[in-house]
Amino acid sequence: MHRFALGDFELSIFSDGTYPLDGGAFFGVVPKVMWSRKAAADEKNYVTTGLNSLLIRTGKQTVLVETGMGNKLSERMIKFYGQPAQLLANLAAEGVSPEDVDIVINTHLHFDHCGWNTVRDGSGKIVPTFPRAKYYAPEGEWQYARKPSERDAISYISDNYDPLVESGQMTLLKGGEEIVPGISVKTFPGHTASMQGVIVRGSQNPHPQDTPHAPTVCYISDLIPTTAHIDITWGMGFDLYPLQTIESKKWYYTQAIPERWLTVFTHDAKTPWAYVERDAAGKMVARAV
Ligand SMILES: [Zn+2]
Repeated sequence: MHRFALGDFELSIFSDGTYPLDGGAFFGVVPKVMWSRKAAADEKNYVTTGLNSLLIRTGKQTVLVETGMGNKLSERMIKFYGQPAQLLANLAAEGVSPEDVDIVINTHLHFDHCGWNTVRDGSGKIVPTFPRAKYYAPEGEWQYARKPSERDAISYISDNYDPLVESGQMTLLKGGEEIVPGISVKTFPGHTASMQGVIVRGSQNPHPQDTPHAPTVCYISDLIPTTAHIDITWGMGFDLYPLQTIESKKWYYTQAIPERWLTVFTHDAKTPWAYVERDAAGKMVARAV
């Protein structure tokens, strides 16, 4: 169990399981001779990819960032990705029931990030998985998801968000909002135009003499999906705006490295969070918690 205390907040990682992703698509223009040193590929060139959600207990609210792949994939998509669907069981094992979740935040609306937002009930109707929760997602992402490009239309499953927007249970965000005290969102364009990272600052700084900056954890989502993607130029082939990915990563590191933010890696099957540092040679390295 990965757990971290941030002031009064308690943070934990919950996985929806792992799925296979083509290594070439995962590492874009990076040659396999380079990426295969950091990520093992099987005989079909698949890399095992994680589905990490972040649960934050603030003391007042229970906040879930990202809801994995869910259990509503089509037969065709199950052929490609499987459908691990482990998030609810993993939450239950730690005593978290769907009714306990007060807030759900989606960084973007690709199917592997908001799949458990909703489920089909006994009659086949789409209903919220977390019945009491207020849901949040980027407005630009939702607008785009209504009319995605041919390139990434397969990544959007409207049942994951449209029923929630229609019922008023999902609030659409511009970027920059503070959702509850200490938890805010910021737009990091690159993977999509409107993807948002979730920035968590503890409610208080327990050791101000040791850490001059407020301790911060950031769910950076698909801007830096795994520890193997921390180099500025190692973007995913899926990124719609690869040059913006580079700019967003640079901005992120100018904050996250000097202030020692703990970075959450949405798709890392082994290392869900780590500190990103620059070593003596200037190379990016991930240091374990
Ligand atoms: Zn994505």
